[in-house]
Amino acid sequence: MIDTKFDIAYAAGRFNLSLNIIDGNPQIFNLMGMDSYYSVYKMLSDDEQKKIASAAAQCLEHPGLVCDECVHITVDGKRCCYILTIQLAQDGNSYDLALINVSNTENRINELNRRLITAREYISLTGEAVFAYYPDTQRFHLYYINHQQNVTIFDENFGEWETQMLEQNRVAKEDFETFETFCSILRNGKFSQSYTFHGCIISDANILERYRVSFKPKNYENGDQVVIGTWAIIHEATGDVNATILEDSYIDSLTGLLNKKSIMKYAEDALKGKNRDRTAFAIIDIDDFKSVNDNFGHMFGDKVIKAVGNVIKNAVGTNAVAGRMGGDEFFIVFEQFTDELEFRNVLRCIKTNVATVYHDQMERKLSCSIGLARYGVGPFSTTYHDLFKIADRSLYLAKVKGKNRYIIYKPELHGDFNLQNDDDIINVSNTFYSETDINALHNMLSDLIVYGTDSVTEVLDFFAHVMTINRVSVFLSDSGAPAYTNTLPADVPMADPSVLKNVKYLYLFTNNLLAVSNLQSLEFSTPEVYKLLSDTGVACFMQYIVRDREGEPVGLISADVFDRSSAFPKIAITLFADMCRTLNAVFLREHLI
Ligand code: GH3
Ligand code: MG
Repeated sequence: MIDTKFDIAYAAGRFNLSLNIIDGNPQIFNLMGMDSYYSVYKMLSDDEQKKIASAAAQCLEHPGLVCDECVHITVDGKRCCYILTIQLAQDGNSYDLALINVSNTENRINELNRRLITAREYISLTGEAVFAYYPDTQRFHLYYINHQQNVTIFDENFGEWETQMLEQNRVAKEDFETFETFCSILRNGKFSQSYTFHGCIISDANILERYRVSFKPKNYENGDQVVIGTWAIIHEATGDVNATILEDSYIDSLTGLLNKKSIMKYAEDALKGKNRDRTAFAIIDIDDFKSVNDNFGHMFGDKVIKAVGNVIKNAVGTNAVAGRMGGDEFFIVFEQFTDELEFRNVLRCIKTNVATVYHDQMERKLSCSIGLARYGVGPFSTTYHDLFKIADRSLYLAKVKGKNRYIIYKPELHGDFNLQNDDDIINVSNTFYSETDINALHNMLSDLIVYGTDSVTEVLDFFAHVMTINRVSVFLSDSGAPAYTNTLPADVPMADPSVLKNVKYLYLFTNNLLAVSNLQSLEFSTPEVYKLLSDTGVACFMQYIVRDREGEPVGLISADVFDRSSAFPKIAITLFADMCRTLNAVFLREHLI
């Protein structure tokens, strides 16, 4: 409802060549004052009058030309910004002129967007599918909404679809008539009512379900020629009309995510769509899920799968579409991100929140491993099968490296999966660190400075992940348990900070830093330390001495590798030093040392 002049969103009229009004909608009279013979100039300031006079002159000279200008009009004491468009009318003797209130239009669009989001949320809650029929092109689009995103069930020519439904016996015989009525009424778009019939909308399913289909009359306003309706499944057993959309065919009933068939279809379509360059696949698998089943039973296992599904749903939000592949495996199709950090944020969120799933009921925190492959990253990474394979191999690599981590595939870091067989993957070279990883680590360190110690574990995890280091421990004393570690698999022993008490050993450090690529080299200089470390199976390591304000050594940060003894590249030592210095500074600031 338009209550006041200020609210007028759109006003239009016909003006003579002196720009006096001849005819128009009530709004334009309202704006100009109904009681007098008005010139458009009376609404405008001197400067704007000149702009409009020159626009009118141009339009007179070039029939067909549309000029628009931004003008301010003071209405009821309030200054409103309008876009004024002017064009010579077809009679050549007058102007068509329209005013569009900019802020009002913006508010309306925002309001409509809000309503749209609410409506979509509602539709995704009720689980109804939506269809749109476009009489112009005769396209029939059936889709449902999963977290604000349209998931297409089919998008076909209406006539062909109708024929197929009938010819392939996808409509129950007794409902042929209702179906045909529905189709012809839909084509006409005149009635608003529901039709109920038994049918099957996908060709290879053999269950005929009962649908309730209803739609709104055709709406030709604003040039929108589309008939919109809803398509719901009515559950036969209960006669429940609270529709749950296509559940059996498209949705995984345990998690409410897409099932394998539909997420795979979605993934394939994504690679055919306009966002193919941005497409990325992530495969997520719960770590040691069998032991959850073994210890707590299958029913509890199901609850865990459901909770992990929720974590994934919440983490991807409207940025991606997620599905369950089966068992403890999930799949995400990303189509919107261009920056690796955006992927990291989602994957990190999943990793963090999976750890909270039923944490009060299980003795060990739940974790998951994730492999992610981006379109066009690495050779053979553009087809569905290749991209899936890379994501799957990355997941495998994440498992091999100790689980509870995500690996975003990079050929320079992980090698070329498509040329390797599975056995080679374990021996990937890890002396090259990508610039993105290094930047990401530096960004995390800046966050640490700004936000404090909350994210220490996350930094250690990321450092360990990028550097392929098995264990990173931060000690703030020379005995006892570490204050922080990366997320460690169960079989990794705790590090020992007692080396700090060994003065001879401390002499080996330069600028608080020591990198040992071969443990043997300690055998003669500090045999006690050599023994201590070789007993726990450490093969090579980097350490940093944490010092208090007086410069006294009060703690140790140790990055340990078990499975290989190799020299640390210079960049690894530099990054380790950067990380440790930042941590030391934050510990001092937070009075932890
Ligand atoms: P990994 O860390 O290597 O992934 O070890 P895992 O124990 O998780 O092993 P894997 O992923 O291979 O096995 C998944 C197990 O999930 C196998 C099966 O017993 C169980 N499972 C599969 N589907 C379901 C299900 O629907 N419900 C429950 N509760 N368990 C399932
Ligand atoms: Mg698993």
